[in-house]
Amino acid sequence: MSELSRLELYRRGEVRFILNYIMRNNENLRPIFKDGQYTFPDLDKLLKGISTKSILEELADHGLLERYPVDIILTCPECRFNDLTDRYLCPFCEGFELERGTMIEHYDCSEVAFQKYYVKNEKLICPKCHNDLKVNGSDYRKIESIFHCIKCKKDFSVPKITHKCLRCSHSYSYDTTKLKTIFGYIFKEDFRDEVIANCKSEVPIINLLKENGYLVESPGTIKGKSGIDHIFDIIAHRQNNEKNIFAITVASSYEKVEPEVIVSHFSKAFDANPSRSIIVAIPTLNEDGKRLAKLYGIDVVNGNTLKEVRKIFKEKILSINKISF
Ligand SMILES: [Zn+2]
Ligand SMILES: [Zn+2]
Ligand SMILES: [Zn+2]
Repeated sequence: MSELSRLELYRRGEVRFILNYIMRNNENLRPIFKDGQYTFPDLDKLLKGISTKSILEELADHGLLERYPVDIILTCPECRFNDLTDRYLCPFCEGFELERGTMIEHYDCSEVAFQKYYVKNEKLICPKCHNDLKVNGSDYRKIESIFHCIKCKKDFSVPKITHKCLRCSHSYSYDTTKLKTIFGYIFKEDFRDEVIANCKSEVPIINLLKENGYLVESPGTIKGKSGIDHIFDIIAHRQNNEKNIFAITVASSYEKVEPEVIVSHFSKAFDANPSRSIIVAIPTLNEDGKRLAKLYGIDVVNGNTLKEVRKIFKEKILSINKISF
């Protein structure tokens, strides 16, 4: 796929979100088998309702991820669902009422029947000719694990195995079963720079700060009053003013950013005591988050797209600079 089609892809919020997640040390996405399904539980939780699998497939189609096989599962030819149960049927009449056990063949009279019909008073007696059986291998033989069909009375050693779909009840055999490969996905390193430039939420803010004469560290550390080093997504200060420090946390969510981000930022900022505490929330904070930010005196920048974030952040910097000059 072309660069143009990838750039088109990066415009979508859920794509940027997932690529940001991958960039945070989740380069290898391997599905987990649970409750009869392969899923990506961490991503499913974050993406709430959007099909993780279809986005990963799209990213793989665009060459950003490489697929690798994890398993092959059997699926129903009717509905493609993979929850199935196996059934053993008679290969002659397809009856399902089968018995399985050890059979005995009595050589003298050619009787073949389950062992249970031979047992009488702890001895083996032929149910047909009523003679005692003597030595296994000489006057009779045992045949282990034989199926008997109650309907057509035939015996056989290998049943017909079919699958029954637990969703649509369709019965099917191995020759019509669909085989489905389950894939894991690995991020292709070749695209790291391109993805960071287009999807990493910190990038437009870092660039903007640099363009406006700030020295930037990302991630950056501030030593708190307690002596503990606190790490923020971005630390910035003016070249000629090392005391005027910004501590910035960048948080993105597929829906709204949860208040935990504010609490975590505040607990660090309380000790680190930067001049400005800023949270960039993409697309926006939820209501509790907004209330907390106001309570803690944290500046908030919201934006649906990185372009919008850049624009609003720029206005914020300009207004801050006006105050400090
Ligand atoms: Zn089905
Ligand atoms: Zn006999
Ligand atoms: Zn049968």
